[in-house]
Amino acid sequence: MSKQKDLHPAVKEFMSQSPVKMYIGGQWLGSADKSTFQTLDPGGGSPLATVAQGKTDDIDKAVAAARDAFRTSGWASMPVNDRAVLLHRLADLVDKHCDELAQLESLDVGKPLACAKTIDIPNVAQTLRWYADFAVHTRLREPIPVSGHEARQVRFPYGVAALVLPWNFPMLLVGWNLSPALAAGNTAVIKPAEDTPLSTLYFCKLVQEAGIPAGVVNVVPGYGETAGKALSEHPRINRMGFTGSPEVGRLIASACGKNLVPVKLELGGKGAAVVFDDVDVDNVAQQLVAAVSFNTGQVCCTATRWMLHEKIWDKFVPAAKEKMQAIRIGHGFASDTEMGPAVSEKQQQRILGYLEKGQAQGADAILPGGKAEVKEYPQGFYVKPTLLTGDPDNICCEEEIFGPVAYLIKFKDEDEVVELVNRSNYGLANSVWTDDLERANRVAEAMVAGNSWINAHNVFPHGVPYAGVNLSGFGGGVLGPDTYFDYLRPQSIVRPTA
Ligand code: NAP
Ligand code: MG
Repeated sequence: MSKQKDLHPAVKEFMSQSPVKMYIGGQWLGSADKSTFQTLDPGGGSPLATVAQGKTDDIDKAVAAARDAFRTSGWASMPVNDRAVLLHRLADLVDKHCDELAQLESLDVGKPLACAKTIDIPNVAQTLRWYADFAVHTRLREPIPVSGHEARQVRFPYGVAALVLPWNFPMLLVGWNLSPALAAGNTAVIKPAEDTPLSTLYFCKLVQEAGIPAGVVNVVPGYGETAGKALSEHPRINRMGFTGSPEVGRLIASACGKNLVPVKLELGGKGAAVVFDDVDVDNVAQQLVAAVSFNTGQVCCTATRWMLHEKIWDKFVPAAKEKMQAIRIGHGFASDTEMGPAVSEKQQQRILGYLEKGQAQGADAILPGGKAEVKEYPQGFYVKPTLLTGDPDNICCEEEIFGPVAYLIKFKDEDEVVELVNRSNYGLANSVWTDDLERANRVAEAMVAGNSWINAHNVFPHGVPYAGVNLSGFGGGVLGPDTYFDYLRPQSIVRPTA
């Protein structure tokens, strides 16, 4: 295969281990019962690597290693600026090894190599640096002026942070979730998604090289129902961070509830884009097509419900259709690919299943979707981008499909469209598009969600909290200062002086 000869030698070597091992307590280990699983290249439908399959015993080992490192490695007690130096060193290594990480990410997820190289991997380094710097400039000891007492509040890391993560942005989400936990002085056990464990495991080589003490970062690949479950139910974890579907989020929250472990959930979405009649139609059509096809639509916050003002409908729809038809679908390693495959056959079938159900319920296809054929890769899990329209209570307008599918709805006025947006059970992110900034701000505030974007969709600057409400999650969010404090427990210290 042509992609084999393009592989970085270190990537080739890494994937040819049999199995690719888990990283626990600074050591590369096979699983306790020697079981393994395969990860696939969704672009070719073929096996990429054999990976150690962690189960309960391995999770026990990883939690014990993380707990040990928290108590004895010096990580939790070291001055914040010394920890920041190590995190900066790790960020520099991520940049230095961007090519290898990007190749693994592109192969494992199916995303275009250029996206992994220019978006996913650099973002990891940026997040590490942002939290390292934020930690250095944050006061962890606050004097409290009360009469008759000398009092202060001090913040300490919790201990072991358990992170269970999804497959759509495996490495980027390690950055978003691990960076604040580590900057705050916690240690971590990560369970990456079974479909995409490779980049997270490769990253551990860099953790090691950066000089981060053994046991501070542990990665146990495996299945959600075994490794993920064991980690979320573990009585010795002190903080839980989960990113994934609401269905699994409920299980994680229940497990944490039983053990009274604080939990944060970053879940799915059904984002709307509200387009008024004063916009440059061609430009907005281009941006929404780009948003819904980015990462093959496997983006929690992407624009999946397009609310179009009735006056621009006739111009917008053909413009969007033309741009969607022009998207080049292909293998992530092909240089002209704009949209890769779905991550797995299961995900491909999920997308196709939704299209069938939606049309059975009466949705009209403006641009019919379906399986896409890519000549050189007949076994790949490709899908076509799709435009549907119809009733707002159609299943394709209500539920998260997690594919390149937009559902279009015509509206007349502002109140009507805000009501349509807020019908959703999700509450992650929406956007409003108009030249009238007063209206933009009004609608942005009226849409119920963790995030409202104006004249853009999918915007994540470091320092701006990104979180969801309702079915989209609770407990803190990511990317902002709050996330750092989420990983610190407050403790009040008081001495009566009177
Ligand atoms: P998922 O099925 O919920 O899986 C997420 C993680 O949970 C995976 O590591 C999975 O392992 C694990 N898991 C599965 N069952 C489990 C169980 N019983 N106990 C403990 N862990 C378990 O989600 P996904 O399909 O990977 O990702 C797509 C979802 O993530 C979408 O809903 C998307 O919107 C959401 N998402 C949200 C954000 C955000 O920031 N809000 C970001 C990205 C994605 P396996 O891989 O082995 O199943
Ligand atoms: Mg894979």
